[in-house]
Amino acid sequence: LSQLFRPLDLLGMVYRTIRQGLIDMEAMFKLVDTPQEVTDRPGAPPLQVTSGEVRFDTVLFGYDPGRTILKGVDITIAAGKTLAVVGPSGAGKSTIARLLFRFYDVTSGRILIDGQDIAAVTQDSVRDAIGIVPQDMVLFNDTIGYNIGYGRAGATQAEIEEAAKGASIHDFVLSLPEGYETRVGERGLKLSGGEKQRVAIARTLLKDPPILILDEATSALDSRTEAAIQEVLGEISRRRTTIVIAHRLSTVVEADEIVVLDQGVVVERGTHAQLLAADGLYATMWRRQAAERKTEGLGVEDVLA
Ligand code: ADP
Ligand code: MG
Repeated sequence: LSQLFRPLDLLGMVYRTIRQGLIDMEAMFKLVDTPQEVTDRPGAPPLQVTSGEVRFDTVLFGYDPGRTILKGVDITIAAGKTLAVVGPSGAGKSTIARLLFRFYDVTSGRILIDGQDIAAVTQDSVRDAIGIVPQDMVLFNDTIGYNIGYGRAGATQAEIEEAAKGASIHDFVLSLPEGYETRVGERGLKLSGGEKQRVAIARTLLKDPPILILDEATSALDSRTEAAIQEVLGEISRRRTTIVIAHRLSTVVEADEIVVLDQGVVVERGTHAQLLAADGLYATMWRRQAAERKTEGLGVEDVLA
């Protein structure tokens, strides 16, 4: 019977995902035959990732004709480097992530991975190369082991536990009534935001992709959990090309480059120090947050956008 209900669960998930603005893109595309926004060209070859360089070349994009969201974005992330994207809400930050994952094809311009236009290779191969730790993850109504193991087909229990350890969630799982066999999700055990995020991280560790997209949670996790997650994210992004849709200042400070997006245009770019010195939008946001931190008594991990 549970087999029968799974498609309904997934449809519900897809619906909520679309409403909430793309929560777990990987789950959506891999498991469900959703109406596709993009189709592969006939005979499209798979992407060949060599080093993992990502480039946005004059990318224009709008969800609807007549309303351009990204207005000519140029970004290059060298292999293994970290780019942070910051800016006001609605600026188009998440849209950048969606386009790189090839949720949509660009209106004009190109997105290149190791020199290959992602619109000219198979979408599956693009998605295989990219891991996403979403802001808010939807768990499958299945065991926690399944939810972690989903990162890689055929993963062994030992590999799943190794990934869970890497994401600092192994001990938590062992404390559950049935360990890795404990059912989670809407009809099982409800996990907290921080626990779900660590499941997403474990899944990503298992997938071991060359390119990483982190959409950091802004929700108020307790500061110890947040610090632990931050450390793990920093660790897994170290050897990978990473785009951080950044909310936390600490990530931004360490990024190799920060781009400030405003209304679909890159208005500033540079390192943290350069942007503070430039005294523009970034510096204003930084000061505003510093003031908020003071009044609210929050730690370094704070909300940037
Ligand atoms: P950010 O992540 O910077 O807050 P987004 O990239 O999510 O911004 O959104 C940029 C703009 O695109 C917003 O004005 C938003 O309303 C619009 N938008 C986002 N998703 C869709 C969609 N699926 N259809 C139409 N408009 C959308
Ligand atoms: Mg967003």
